[in-house]
Amino acid sequence: MAVDNKIEWNFNNTYLSLPKIMLSEQKPDIVEKPEVVIINHALSKELGLNLLDLDDKYLASVFSGNSLPDGSKTISMAYAGHQFGHFTILGDGRAITIGEHVTQNNQGFEIQFKGSGKTKFSRDGDGKAALGPMLREYIISEAMHYLNIPTTRSLAVIKTGEKVIRETELKGAILTRVATSHLRVGTFQYFAYKKDDSNLKTLINFTINKHYPSLKNKENLYLNLIDKLMEKQIDLIVNWMRVGFIHGVMNTDNMALSGETIDYGPCAFMDQYDPKSVFSSIDHFGRYAYYNQPTIAKWNLARFAECLIPLLDSNKDKAIKLATDKINEFDSNYEKKWLGMMRDKLGMIGNQKEDEVLILDLLQWMHINKADYTNTFCNLTYENMINDKIFHKDDFLKWKERWKIRLSVNNNDKTSEKTMKKSNPVVIPRNHLVEDALKTAETGDLEKTNRLLKVLSEPYKIQSSIQDLQISPKPSKIPYKTFCGT
Ligand code: AMP
Ligand code: MG
Repeated sequence: MAVDNKIEWNFNNTYLSLPKIMLSEQKPDIVEKPEVVIINHALSKELGLNLLDLDDKYLASVFSGNSLPDGSKTISMAYAGHQFGHFTILGDGRAITIGEHVTQNNQGFEIQFKGSGKTKFSRDGDGKAALGPMLREYIISEAMHYLNIPTTRSLAVIKTGEKVIRETELKGAILTRVATSHLRVGTFQYFAYKKDDSNLKTLINFTINKHYPSLKNKENLYLNLIDKLMEKQIDLIVNWMRVGFIHGVMNTDNMALSGETIDYGPCAFMDQYDPKSVFSSIDHFGRYAYYNQPTIAKWNLARFAECLIPLLDSNKDKAIKLATDKINEFDSNYEKKWLGMMRDKLGMIGNQKEDEVLILDLLQWMHINKADYTNTFCNLTYENMINDKIFHKDDFLKWKERWKIRLSVNNNDKTSEKTMKKSNPVVIPRNHLVEDALKTAETGDLEKTNRLLKVLSEPYKIQSSIQDLQISPKPSKIPYKTFCGT
């Protein structure tokens, strides 16, 4: 049923110009008893939407897909992807895009429901989603946004009033995800697999128009596109490393052309620093462990470059060489940016030869002493904020002396302080806090969720009465586990 556009969506569905073979018209399922769990009014304001004046019944009906707004064209997208290294044909199995909303300053955002029923691409899945995981995506994606990390965002979570069956019976829910686009490396792999160069070119032009307009009319367009995506992905991964974020399922279908973090399934933030941290229940070999994220990003980019080989040069050997040389730039580009990011976290101005050793020594100390990643940098940024006894240990104080000497080179206390405060959050969505909030949210009580969201909306600011959110939990005997497809 179409309804009045009270929300004031301004749909211009450019994705409809994409090759028809990658889209499937798909209507969301009607759900039994839609109820608002949470609406993101801050985001709706940024999008220029009018949600504040609308009653919950209307919002529940619209964000469950029971009523579709005028101008909505509901589709799911085909894509392929390497899942844990294995190539598969996938597609939006439980996601339906309802429209592309264009803001007053002409930015386009795809509005997508996650969990609104089976699609042509559902394979064995039920197309549905459960309340806990959707609210978890809402909390973590919003936290990422306020940590200044590119990400898809979350506009609403609606309970469907239906059950979904996983290991147990769970409450059904639908998340409204907002992304500049849902194009992924896997979208390109889909056409490369089909050896469909003509549609691949159409997809590339669409991508360039949307995400990289500065490349238009450039020579070596395809090589430049690989270069741009590499730059965006390096920036993204460096940001993840900065805050101790582990995506958990960096399959090529979860790497967005926009450079936004996408797909909050088994992701988690690290408490105690351990480069081998893995939380995903199915990542048995640590493919997507914290320290391995740059290696995997490079691997994914190589898969992207492979798709473009037929277009890079008519001579296949030459095309392969062009792509390989480009991808091989990853390591030094990443190293440089990672080092810059770490220097910023430590307020070190300029480049000194000994910086890398100093940084690695700190990380090693953190690892050996099971120090909390976020809190160690907080301790260095704000002398008295985190006063754990671990930070009084001799070896840490000795390291600090070396660091202070380094800071005296190119000394500028104000700049150092400012850079550190911008780089080191005082609060992150710690796993135990998110789990606790979700547990109470299951009972209909959103107090903890709302408090967490409020605090996480200013993660670089000193806030009063948040000590309980900053405590690093003691390592548990039962390791924290996260799950895909929940
Ligand atoms: P993800 O791990 O979220 O990237 O999902 C991998 C693939 O599984 C994608 O094609 C999803 O659309 C699909 N998928 C995940 N959960 C479900 C579900 N409950 N029903 C249908 N498809 C699903
Ligand atoms: Mg995915």
